[in-house]
Amino acid sequence: MLIDTLKYISQLLPVLASVFFILSLRGLSSAATSRKGNIFGMLGISISILVPLCYCFCVLFLRQIIPNNINDFYGSLFFGLTIAALSFGGGIGYDIAKKINMTALPQLVAAFHSLVGLSAVFIACAIFSAPNLFALFNTSDQPIPLSNAIEMAIGAAIGAITFTGSIVAFGKLQGFISGKPLKYKGQHKLNFLVALLIIISSIIFVNKQTAILFAIIIFASFALGYLLIMPIGGADMPVIVSMLNSYSGWAAAGIGFTLDNNVLIIVGALVGTSGAILSNIMCKGMNRSLKNVILGGMGVETSLTNDSGNIQRNVKICSPEDAAFIIKNAESIILIPGYGMAVSQAQHAIKELSELLKNEKISIKYAIHPVAGRMPGHMNVLLAEANIPYEDAFEMDEINHEFGSCDVAIVIGANDITNPAAKTDPASPIYGMPVLEVERAKTVLFIKRSLGSGYAGVDNPLFYQGNTMMVLGDAKKVVEGLIKALKEN
Ligand code: NDP
Repeated sequence: MLIDTLKYISQLLPVLASVFFILSLRGLSSAATSRKGNIFGMLGISISILVPLCYCFCVLFLRQIIPNNINDFYGSLFFGLTIAALSFGGGIGYDIAKKINMTALPQLVAAFHSLVGLSAVFIACAIFSAPNLFALFNTSDQPIPLSNAIEMAIGAAIGAITFTGSIVAFGKLQGFISGKPLKYKGQHKLNFLVALLIIISSIIFVNKQTAILFAIIIFASFALGYLLIMPIGGADMPVIVSMLNSYSGWAAAGIGFTLDNNVLIIVGALVGTSGAILSNIMCKGMNRSLKNVILGGMGVETSLTNDSGNIQRNVKICSPEDAAFIIKNAESIILIPGYGMAVSQAQHAIKELSELLKNEKISIKYAIHPVAGRMPGHMNVLLAEANIPYEDAFEMDEINHEFGSCDVAIVIGANDITNPAAKTDPASPIYGMPVLEVERAKTVLFIKRSLGSGYAGVDNPLFYQGNTMMVLGDAKKVVEGLIKALKEN
């Protein structure tokens, strides 16, 4: 009776976990519901961890459901290893989550994806070397069924590509590997040949199932992951991380089919599709196609240029005190946060500034570009962290028409997303990228540390426009300076 109930629960729980994962994705699609989305995700993952633990418990302590081919030794070993892995991995994950900076999230995500890819490879290797230990297939003398072998080969190949690809992406984002796009002759041909080798080996493998073929699939896929990601510029890495996220999902789904594990299949498919959709959204936000990202390569190490070559043009630089004077006399202000706000962690100071200005009956709005910062939703997360009301934040399409009637646009650590060259200069690498029409405001205040370029490595003509004033310095310090000056006046 107890065993039946436990079996029933262990079948039900994965369904419940999957529902939570779907609710989580739904919640994460809007800033207002993202906290709920996170909680659903945590519930889903907790249940997914509990199921194998319950299973281990049953295997060890309620002997009736021990499959014939698992003896006490394997049962204890499995249970012990699971607990050890959960404690070790959970401990490291907790520590990283506590310490990580918001700006380092893309590389953290890349590092985590590499682990998903490697797990898929390890699981595939384990199933291949001892299929009957997993109680999946009938007997040891029969080959792995064709459908399982196909799923296993696909899962292992995508997992291996994800592993090395994510390691390279991590290295580039962390600065361990040069972010410069790496081009060489015959690059696409070489990639094509390696991909062909993987496909042919996989086709032969599902029929012959030899260790050497399995090894070729895995090692060629490791090589392909490296070859595919290494030539891509550091500037395109966030899109690549999102794409690798999608790959890791498909790898998990492939292995899920082999293991007949519904949670892995559902979660893998959710991650695979959402990652692909996200990559597409990011590409649209930057007006680039995924093919162009993978084959093109936008440099981050481009030197600062402007349309008059290296000749420096006139720039108006003002102090926080001067800027405070301009702000105080405004009736409507739009704040444009960007990557620099994230770097300097200026969001709390910005919240204080906007409260101060609201008390002076000045209208305050935030303009959020879809790719501001270094990952989708980056700005929304930071503004939410500082308890800035959701209703004050507007998406690009909602607010662009308001710049013409706005007194002051304050750009805080943003650059590319405001660059008018994206609309006017067909030669610009960001030409066609939708941008915030900041230049239409009566006055533009630019808070950043220098006249340096942003992520795309291109000069911003807005710095030299007549109605622009640069307030140079670290975003947090400048905003604190503004607050101080406003309070003193
Ligand atoms: P940018 O990278 O264009 O500009 C950020 C600016 O912040 C820099 O020019 C830098 O100038 C300034 N900055 C850096 N640190 C500080 C600091 N401590 N204080 C003040 N300023 C600072 O960022 P945007 O947000 O404008 O644009 C995002 C870019 O990232 C776009 O090109 C987008 O395509 C790209 N991207 C975004 C993705 C996403 O999902 N969000 C994904 C892929 C790409 P200075 O050094 O002079 O201070």
